[in-house]
Amino acid sequence: MIYNFDMNAKYFLSLSIIFLSLSSGIRGDIKELTILYTNDLHSHLVPHIEGWMSKDRPVGGFANIATLVKEEKAKNPETIYIDAGDYFSGPYVSTLTEGAAVIETMNFLGLDAACIGNHEFDHGWQNTFNQLKKATFPILNGNIFVEDTGKLFWDNPYIIIEKQGLKIGIIGLHGKFAFHDTINKEMVVGLDIRDEEFYLKKYIAEIKDQTDLIILSIHQGMPGRQSTIGLSDVERALFKDIDLASKVSDLDIIVTGHAHKGTEEALQSNGTLIVSTNAYTTQLGKLVVTYDTSKKKIINHTNELIPIFDDEIEDDPAMLREIEKWNTRVGEIAGEIVATSSETMTRAYGQESNMGNMFADALKAMNDTIDIAVINSGALRQDIPKGQVSIGHLISAFPFPNRGIITTLTGKEVREIFEHAAGQTNGVLQVSQGFQYSITKDNKLGFMRLNGKDIQDEGIYRVAAPNFVTMGGDGYLSFLKSSETIDSGILMFDVAKNFIQKQQNYEPFYEGRIVLEN
Ligand code: FE
Repeated sequence: MIYNFDMNAKYFLSLSIIFLSLSSGIRGDIKELTILYTNDLHSHLVPHIEGWMSKDRPVGGFANIATLVKEEKAKNPETIYIDAGDYFSGPYVSTLTEGAAVIETMNFLGLDAACIGNHEFDHGWQNTFNQLKKATFPILNGNIFVEDTGKLFWDNPYIIIEKQGLKIGIIGLHGKFAFHDTINKEMVVGLDIRDEEFYLKKYIAEIKDQTDLIILSIHQGMPGRQSTIGLSDVERALFKDIDLASKVSDLDIIVTGHAHKGTEEALQSNGTLIVSTNAYTTQLGKLVVTYDTSKKKIINHTNELIPIFDDEIEDDPAMLREIEKWNTRVGEIAGEIVATSSETMTRAYGQESNMGNMFADALKAMNDTIDIAVINSGALRQDIPKGQVSIGHLISAFPFPNRGIITTLTGKEVREIFEHAAGQTNGVLQVSQGFQYSITKDNKLGFMRLNGKDIQDEGIYRVAAPNFVTMGGDGYLSFLKSSETIDSGILMFDVAKNFIQKQQNYEPFYEGRIVLEN
């Protein structure tokens, strides 16, 4: 009896094993994986007004993102959340803490991985290293090296995690062009960025056999446009990613940052899905892919950019406590009132802005030998509301620790600089009073006048700019030809503070310094 029972049991057991393996084989073929993503958070810990989304409903903020991520992960614990860099620099909480407040609050976001963006270097690479060490989530980069040692600056090029029974490789890289184009060179002396395509192929080769799916988190692409005007087409903005995907195989997904351009629909290039959000915590991206394990590829997907309206989402309590802690720490310094402003100061990327006029005039006022002062539009990051102007407002408006520099250039070199500005690949240059230039409708330089007189090629001009620009940043390479360069040592935020403080009540204005020819 016992014998028979055993035989029966064995018989049933083997039958059920066959049945189970058959059915799990069928069901196991198709897996659904959710990937949440963000990029270019830029220290927007608290909600703010983003004109293109709503004139009066605040958007964004870390406490709202944390809630959405928690909700998604509660519904489906196998969800992944990836960020594509540029979490530092924006509202002053980042500047005043050199990014510490950002990293320590990000620890409450529920991230599974993040890559490193150019703005993480805004306070020098030693600081980047010290701050990023505080992260409790994996930070990834595999192509930034230390010159002296030849070793990776951040020794974590990829991770492999398991979700839905799938092995998922996540690689982190930074675009070489964006690194040189947008980082203040002084901040990365001693670092060496190497070709992203070469290292992407290398890491894919290393992990291909151990993984089912490979995701790249990368920071590269077109410089972000800061204003709502002249928004470029998504594919143009993310062309670097489309191009990179076209050159590699076995890459399933790219989560990208730097372009500040959201993908309503995931882009597709060479079988790779490319996704990104608009900047400043305005959206949480959600990509859901259907993966066929027998074909070893994604066979279907849906993508959405979830708008983060503060009035629709409860704040995550743990995150809120952390944000309040940092706000109290920086509030005392930031709250000091330095002047009042009769109008809101607004920034613009493709035209004259009253905020650009203020900063350029402030820079020119720094020294009376300056003929022209220029401000790169991308340096201006947040509007200043009318009323009392605090130190915090000025830092948030110009959050980078750049110094005012005076260069000596020929008229021909000035022309080259404004030809680049007119091309608008990196936004126009905001200029000081007395200088005027025009941009033709095909983005060429028209006229260029100082106090009503055309700039002469053989003339000599003293041109002031933030050191980011005078070191060739944003593509303004002609500044490097300066025959005499004087570093004032004064931070741009102090330049603005000294200027506006003298005026007590500042009246922002437009006066046609940049003429757009139609
Ligand atoms: Fe960036």
